[in-house]
Amino acid sequence: MGRKRVNYPRLDIDCSKISHNVQFLISELSLKNISVTPVMKVFLGHPIIARTLIDAGAKMLADSRIENIQRMTQSGITAPKMLIRTPMLSQVESVVRYCDISLNTEIKVIQKLSKAASRSNINHGIVIMVELGDLREGLMPDHVIGFIREIIALPNIVIRGIGTNLACRFGIMPDEKNMTLLSNLADDIETTFGLTLDIISGGNSASINWALNYTGQTRVNNLRVGEAIFLGCVPFEQEKIKALYTDAITLTAEVIESKIKPSLPWGKRDLNAFGEKETVPDKGMVSQAIIALGRQDVCVTGLNAPDGVTITSSTSDHLIVETSGKPLFIGQKITFNLDYSALLSSLSSHHILKVFNNRPGLTTLEKEE
Ligand SMILES: *Cc1c(COP(=O)(O)O)cnc(C)c1O
Repeated sequence: MGRKRVNYPRLDIDCSKISHNVQFLISELSLKNISVTPVMKVFLGHPIIARTLIDAGAKMLADSRIENIQRMTQSGITAPKMLIRTPMLSQVESVVRYCDISLNTEIKVIQKLSKAASRSNINHGIVIMVELGDLREGLMPDHVIGFIREIIALPNIVIRGIGTNLACRFGIMPDEKNMTLLSNLADDIETTFGLTLDIISGGNSASINWALNYTGQTRVNNLRVGEAIFLGCVPFEQEKIKALYTDAITLTAEVIESKIKPSLPWGKRDLNAFGEKETVPDKGMVSQAIIALGRQDVCVTGLNAPDGVTITSSTSDHLIVETSGKPLFIGQKITFNLDYSALLSSLSSHHILKVFNNRPGLTTLEKEE
C-alpha cells in the first residue's frame, strides 16, 4: 500500500455514482426494450471504469478508438466490444481482432474487414450507419439497400444492424420523423434480404429523452451512451436527467495567488497571447485569485465554478477568477463541475491526477492505472 498521492489539479471520479447512473439508465430503457451500450471514450478505455460498467449490468462496451478497446481487452475485460467510429483502412487487422462489432459506412472498409476476418477465421459484426440530418457519419437513407447488396455476400461479415448518430455536429434532435425512418429502413432491409437485424441503434445520450418519452412503436432497441452516464445530463442545454448524479466527476485545483486588484488592465493594449481581446467592464477594485489550472489542462470554458467564484480569464497555466464573497486564500482547493468538453479534455490530460473513489473489486489482471 503506497502513500496516497495528493496532487493538484485532480479529478475525483466516484465509481459508485457512475454505477448508479448506468444502472438507472439500463433499467429505465429496458422498459422500452432498449439496451444501453456504454461509451468509454472519455475514459480512454480505463479498466476501472470498464469494470464498474460491467458490474452494473452493461453487456457490451463501446469506444471510438482501437487503442482504448485494446486496453480494455488486455486488462481482462471480456465483454463484447463495439468500435463506434468507422474503422481506418490501416487498422482493420486490429479491428477484427479486438472488436466484435464496428460501425461502418464504407464498402472498401468492409471489404478489408472481411479479408482480415477470413484470414483470422473469425466473424466480424457490422452496424451500418445511416445519415439522418446531423451530417456526420452515415449513408444517405436511399443508398442503404444498394450498399447492403454489395456487401451481403462478403465472407466472415455479419450484418448485425443499422444505426444513426445525431446531435454531435449540428445538434439535430431525434424525433418521430427521423426515428420512424430508421425503423422503417430496418423493416425494408429485413424483407429485401431475408435478414434479421438485432441492433437498431438510435443514437447517443441526446436520444435518451426521446426514448424514455416515446409511446409509439419503434424498432430502435439500442443507444450508445457516454455523457449521460458520466455527467448525468444530456447534451441539449445540459438538461439534467432526474435521478442521475451530476457530480460523479469533479475537478479540484489549488489557489496560488489572491489579491485585491483593479478590474481594468492598464498600459498600451494589444491582443493577448492567444490572439484574443476580451472586453473588460470597469468594476473598480476586485478580489482576484489565480488557480493553478489552465488551457493546457482542460477546456476551461467547460468548467462550472462554485457559487461566489467567477472565472474571468485563462492562460496556459493560470485560471483567473473573481470572488464576490470572502477572498480565496492561498492553498485553498476549489472544486469545479465539468461539461462534456471539460470532461473530455481533462481526462485526456497528462497533467491531471485521476483518483478513482469507491472503486469496484478488480482482478489482478485489471490492476492497472
Ligand atoms: C461519442 C459517441 C457516442 C456517445 O455519445 P454521448 O453523447 O457521450 O452519449 C455514441 N455514438 C458515437 C458514434 C459516438 O461517437
